[in-house]
Amino acid sequence: MAERIVIFGGTFDPIHHGHLITARAVAEHFGFEKVTFIPAKAPPHKGDAQHKSAPADDRLEMVRLAVTGSDMFDVSDVELQRDGPSYTFDTLMSLRRMYGADAQLYWIIGADMLGDLPTWYRAGEVIEIARIITAARPPYNQRIPAMLDELREHFSAERVSGLSERVVSTPLIDVSSTQIRRRLGQEKTVKYLMPDAVIDYIRRRGLYHTD
Ligand code: ATP
Repeated sequence: MAERIVIFGGTFDPIHHGHLITARAVAEHFGFEKVTFIPAKAPPHKGDAQHKSAPADDRLEMVRLAVTGSDMFDVSDVELQRDGPSYTFDTLMSLRRMYGADAQLYWIIGADMLGDLPTWYRAGEVIEIARIITAARPPYNQRIPAMLDELREHFSAERVSGLSERVVSTPLIDVSSTQIRRRLGQEKTVKYLMPDAVIDYIRRRGLYHTD
């Protein structure tokens, strides 16, 4: 069987249990041996004026701490090594070079990202090179059928049916990095939202504080 490379890309600002539970559920659903988290250096679709974000190196380190000891997850710094916006297309090209033409590339997204796919840089090629897996995420998963319909205006019927076949009903975990940054800004506890090692790191480095 061809090698299967499974990527979960994101800002991970910070990583939380929503990411980890989703990645595990996707891996179990498809029988993947490994999911590789790839934190973005400069995500093209993110900008949060209200809450502080953490530097890329810290976001990478938090993912590293979150996956330490796991035999299912690992982390790659491939996007941190590139300057400019972290385009998924460029990352897929690097992965192709690393693993060769025969490897099957999978890219996990949460349901909130499905409708945004056409805005991605070289989106048509991205969905050709990688098999996109869409995980459930409240409340966006209710809109998945409508989003798939809208995607028909941008991608071929064959591609949209591929996207649709790889929608996975993962557990609905209503946790976001925005919620965590907000809670930290308000000095509320973030216990149980993310691994303790990540919480300790945030404290030690004084990340996400408003002043
Ligand atoms: P933010 O609140 O800053 O927008 P986020 O919580 O959405 O962050 P990201 O790092 O932007 O986290 O997400 C990376 C990927 O993980 C995206 O594809 C996103 O859809 C998915 N994701 C994030 N949180 C969840 C969740 N709770 N359930 C399922 N998928 C999720």
